[in-house]
Amino acid sequence: MRDPIECIKELWANPAYLDHLTFAPEHRFADKRKTERVYDELMSGDWCWQKQVCVFIFFLWRHVQVHQELLTDGATLVPVILSSDKTQLCRFQGDKTAYPVYLTIGNISKSIRRKPSFRAQKLIGYLPTVSLDGMDLSADAARLARAQLFHYAMRIVTRSLGTAFPNGIELISGDGAVRLGFPVIAAYAADYPEQALVTCTRYLQTCPKCFVTKDELGKHVTRKPRHQEESIRTIRHASQQSTRARADAVLKDHSLNLIPDAFWIGLPYCDIHKSITPDVLHQIYQGLVRHLCGWLRTLIGDAELDSRFKRMPRVHGVRLFSNGISSLTQISGSEHREICKQVLGCIIDAPGVPAGVIRATRSLLDFLEIAQYQSHTEATLGYLSDALDRFHANKNVFINLGARANDDFNLEKLHSLEHYVDSIRLFGTTDNYNTEASERLHIDYAKDAYRATNKKDSDFLENMTRWLERREKMAAFDLVLQWRHGKTPKPRCRHQWQRPQLPGVYLAKNPSARAVPFHILQDQDQFGAIHFKSSLEDFISRRLQATHRCRATVSCNVHVLRGLEAVDVWYRVKFSVPNLQIDTEQTVLHTAHAEPRRSRGRGTGELDARFDTVLINDFEHNGEETGIEGVSL
Ligand SMILES: [Zn+2]
Repeated sequence: MRDPIECIKELWANPAYLDHLTFAPEHRFADKRKTERVYDELMSGDWCWQKQVCVFIFFLWRHVQVHQELLTDGATLVPVILSSDKTQLCRFQGDKTAYPVYLTIGNISKSIRRKPSFRAQKLIGYLPTVSLDGMDLSADAARLARAQLFHYAMRIVTRSLGTAFPNGIELISGDGAVRLGFPVIAAYAADYPEQALVTCTRYLQTCPKCFVTKDELGKHVTRKPRHQEESIRTIRHASQQSTRARADAVLKDHSLNLIPDAFWIGLPYCDIHKSITPDVLHQIYQGLVRHLCGWLRTLIGDAELDSRFKRMPRVHGVRLFSNGISSLTQISGSEHREICKQVLGCIIDAPGVPAGVIRATRSLLDFLEIAQYQSHTEATLGYLSDALDRFHANKNVFINLGARANDDFNLEKLHSLEHYVDSIRLFGTTDNYNTEASERLHIDYAKDAYRATNKKDSDFLENMTRWLERREKMAAFDLVLQWRHGKTPKPRCRHQWQRPQLPGVYLAKNPSARAVPFHILQDQDQFGAIHFKSSLEDFISRRLQATHRCRATVSCNVHVLRGLEAVDVWYRVKFSVPNLQIDTEQTVLHTAHAEPRRSRGRGTGELDARFDTVLINDFEHNGEETGIEGVSL
């Protein structure tokens, strides 16, 4: 393991992150009158704001001297984001697992944190993965023993975070400025089994964030929020009981497990229940979308649904499921993402699919998309709540039609959606604490490291840590060399990092086909652009009218293309458009294809024709900046 405080100091000192650090909580607004809050980075959420104020009040009351010291310039809150997840090290050796814990800080911009190559996530330790099989323990006892081991190990790993109070730690940033930092656990990104483990709540019995019961998980309700202090009191009260049965009775009311030394007890300002954040990957893609696919397969039938997926036209950025989806096994998160892009189009007008199914599917897909916005306002959070309302209003159609075998929706994953809006208000958008990042880190910090070892049971973990340590030292040394040579390490410079291309339309230097005559372009069997010439005439004359303010009539169209018999054709066009969600982010590049059927060359057959759908907003038809109203096809 490594000391989290040292990791925080290292992250803070990295000169590459200097321009991407936020030193104080922020309230961001979408309008000049400051009425519409914007939630994006973790530091823009309410949690940081509340903690910063609370820290000051606490010291003001208890320690006047410390309070005065805190109020000096530079005292700052360091929101710690932890994540842990067990992973298999080798596909063929299921018993070889690692249990890494990662740490990062919310002061670093999320655009840096989510890119593994920028190394803003630190591996702080591997937890023990002891198998308790063959120890003559019941399933419950083994689960409890594993949970106690997890908390014991995490207690050692996170111990130093508690020592940072009340004096704070000195943090030196890349420009040499010294600030007094107070690290507090803000968010814990994990999948549901891990969330239950971390919060000591009973697996599949309740929610890690509120007192909802097992039978209410499918309802559109939340119950009284859990608080860390209350959980600690309950566990302590249970551990003082004379018999195991009495202790169990105390814990059962609160759906807690008997873990007297949970790692978060004693960590200042930590509330572990509040820190549990939404997990789009496991809760929606691998959870509800997986269920939805199962319900739709039952309703429509594998053969029909597969044939609909197979018939989808090829479109840039969308995967074609040439064998359908029913034959897929162990569907990954990215495959579910691809299915979500197409599933609504595939089920419309399908036999046995009433409007209620379309409405329920659409509302779940709406929720999924809106939950992943890179910035939110109260208005977009309203859309998110609305999508969930619509899903609950329509969900029973799956039970009524027999698609869902159970007669309820008591799924923990469905209940977890109830907490999304509050979590976004507290901790910013879901990309701040997505578990997809830690899934990706497993490749660098566990799987690649394992491959570099001798794979022997006795010392592979030791080899892995040594290998990782050497790589980190090399990366750090590289940073020092860059600095000594006067170079600015990436992603230090914002101007290098942002806006590589101005918004606009980009074509390749050379056309895909030169001088194609109009009659070939308009030929149904070749390019198939049957109205091309008249549309081009119309387009040019409208442009002329707009620029010269001439009152030319349609008759002038006849003259604009005089002498022009052929045009160059590009099969691909790129659109660079501003990022609508974060205006400081890079522009988004889209590509549209329009290609006729053509030969592959050397007599190896033909490539199918391909036409992407493009929505054009020329603002002539009252098109808005967002949405599809007023745009043309
Ligand atoms: Zn809940």
